[in-house]
Amino acid sequence: MSKVQILVVEDDIPVRNLITTTLKTHDYRYVVAGNGAEAIMQASTCNPDVLFLDLGLPDIDGIEVIKRVREWSNMPIIVISARSEDEDKIEALDAGADDYLTKPFSVEELLARLRVMQRRIALLSSDTKGGDSSVYTNGQLKIDFAAGCAYMNGEELKLTPIEYKILCLLAKNTGKVLTHKYITENVWGSAWDNNVASLRVFMATLRKKLEVASDSPQYIQTHIGIGYRMMKMEG
Ligand code: CA
Repeated sequence: MSKVQILVVEDDIPVRNLITTTLKTHDYRYVVAGNGAEAIMQASTCNPDVLFLDLGLPDIDGIEVIKRVREWSNMPIIVISARSEDEDKIEALDAGADDYLTKPFSVEELLARLRVMQRRIALLSSDTKGGDSSVYTNGQLKIDFAAGCAYMNGEELKLTPIEYKILCLLAKNTGKVLTHKYITENVWGSAWDNNVASLRVFMATLRKKLEVASDSPQYIQTHIGIGYRMMKMEG
């Protein structure tokens, strides 16, 4: 299996060393950058598969780096933040980041996030290879966008229009954490607090129909205070 190349953007040397040592031990290739300007340069010249990006950089804000990279690339971006405030993560996700890690994090967490992104990369590249984009399959879940139907284990799911809309949005962004704001804006056209409350209700009913056990969901992952993500099933 050819391993992906990762760009590690982190000005904190011990944290950077922890990341690069972990990557090296697991046979990942990597390049490093210690500030935002270097990060943008490396991102364009090395064309990495995944970007690990610290938000608190000495020159420009990490959010700005995300915006700049997103002007030309959809490479998966995992934000690393010492700031435990959800607002920073939400801002980063809304700027185009795919996932986040909060410092301090374990080596296992780092590797788990990387595996999620590798599945996302595989999915993104199969999309661009001209696969049949009108049908989505993920594990036992299938969505026929043209027909407007979703199936689990071959059985059609009886979804309300809102549940179907939410499911399609998550499916089209498989592997990426979507914020409450992003989902409500796309489903209802606005991000009122009322809509965020409604989203929780619709998500609960959607999961009852979708998941084998709605108290331990496999397809839709909850990020408390932040949003939801459709996981890519193995195989
Ligand atoms: Ca930093």
